[in-house]
Amino acid sequence: MDRRELLADERGTLHKEAELRVALVYPSPYRAAMSSLGYQQIYRTLHGMPGVAADRAMLPDEGTPTGPGRGLVTLETGQPVGGYPLLAYSVAYELEIAGVVETLERSNIPVLAADRDRRHPMVIAGGPLTFSNPAPLAPFFDVVILGEGEELICELVEIGRDLGFDRERVWAALAGKPGYYLPHLHGETIPPVAQVADALLPARSVIATPNTELADMFMTEAARGCSRGCTYCVMRRSTNGGMRIVPRETIIAGIPEGTRRVGLVGAAVTDHPDIAAIVRDVVDGGREVGISSLRADKLTDELVGLLARGGYRTLTVAADGASERMRRVVERSTRASDLIRSAQFAATHRLHTLKVYMMLGVPGETDADVDELVQLSKELAAIHPRVAYGLAPFVAKRNTPLDGSPFAGISLVEGRLARLDKGLRAAGLHDKVKVRPTSARWAWIEYMLAQGESKAGLAVMDAHHAGGTFAAYKAAFKARGVEPTGPRARVPSSQELIALKRQRLATL
Ligand code: SF4
Repeated sequence: MDRRELLADERGTLHKEAELRVALVYPSPYRAAMSSLGYQQIYRTLHGMPGVAADRAMLPDEGTPTGPGRGLVTLETGQPVGGYPLLAYSVAYELEIAGVVETLERSNIPVLAADRDRRHPMVIAGGPLTFSNPAPLAPFFDVVILGEGEELICELVEIGRDLGFDRERVWAALAGKPGYYLPHLHGETIPPVAQVADALLPARSVIATPNTELADMFMTEAARGCSRGCTYCVMRRSTNGGMRIVPRETIIAGIPEGTRRVGLVGAAVTDHPDIAAIVRDVVDGGREVGISSLRADKLTDELVGLLARGGYRTLTVAADGASERMRRVVERSTRASDLIRSAQFAATHRLHTLKVYMMLGVPGETDADVDELVQLSKELAAIHPRVAYGLAPFVAKRNTPLDGSPFAGISLVEGRLARLDKGLRAAGLHDKVKVRPTSARWAWIEYMLAQGESKAGLAVMDAHHAGGTFAAYKAAFKARGVEPTGPRARVPSSQELIALKRQRLATL
């Protein structure tokens, strides 16, 4: 679809005459961009500034031709992105860095910050990736906003506007201020992430469109952060002060008239103390509901019944560890009994599928843990006829206790998947339990970036230029000497994990 067709399908697009227009760039295609509540929140925030407007641009869909006349333009104005004084990127995760390279090239802007001068726009980034490891972004950006960006983006735009977006002067003004990563100054040492005032919550979507995964859904934040402590998770309680709850009345009052579908967004929405009442308010108003994160240990018959009334067809929960032992290792509070109860709720309320997210290749995992998953599958399939596993290889992230744990290995993860498949077939479950794995090869690339330094970003650029295949990434990592870094780059032993757990309990 071209930009005019996309705009015609949207409701809520913001149009404003302004002295300063910022290009808000998403390094993935439109469908992903418009499903991102963070991206929409920054769009709203910039438009709320006097004299400022934000125009969106995204990575074109695969297959869109490049070349003269095919440069990146913004949706709202059709103007070339390269002509804007400021480009603000939102980067969600490691594999989007190739999209950063491509969108800069399509905008005729030198990809590397070091190759840009006064003739070029200032290029900044923020987004979920900055909570873990923004170092691979360093070669491409003049400034990276770390963590929750609603306040800092306004400050940066004010400073930039006053100083004519002169990079040296903006850097001087930002140096020492918390929440900004200035790659030329900080190098590989990343400052702590920022947290916004609670008064700025909740984030709410601005634009509804049928052209996303969450078609025509109004997204609103129910809580920010998480009070739990899963050892692999960047959003755990030690990040930005745990869970901040949005009151039920605020959530409901913010739903625009005529909304048909409401998405409640947050790292752990079902931990909201009023979640059942909020969902009831939504569905009693005749609306459909979606929740970004269901915790199996927080499901009740009432809540699942409300979700079924609100249009749910698939009950999706996360267990993460393949066995009870692995769930304990990662401190996931979900137990096998919670998953069995989830299957019962899904069956009682006639939901089509029970979907469970799991990780494979967690430190300390063995074949026996996969065999236990086969046993659990028998119990789940006896309760509900359609079970699906979303299986992702474990990738260690910065700012988590499991930071530095190595990747289990592509062949090991693929071997465990094959073992699971064989076990399910032997148990006669192949028709009832479907396994949907994500690629172990791409998970390895994600791992190299999650644990890498700024030169890992340069390797992404090389790999993208060489075709963006797995082989291209492998060769680029080697040529750039990219290695997972730090003294933590090894598997913690079981004893170390237990000691770590005790240490944390002692500090609670
Ligand atoms: S995995 Fe989920 S429940 Fe665990 S800390 Fe992260 S957001 Fe919270």
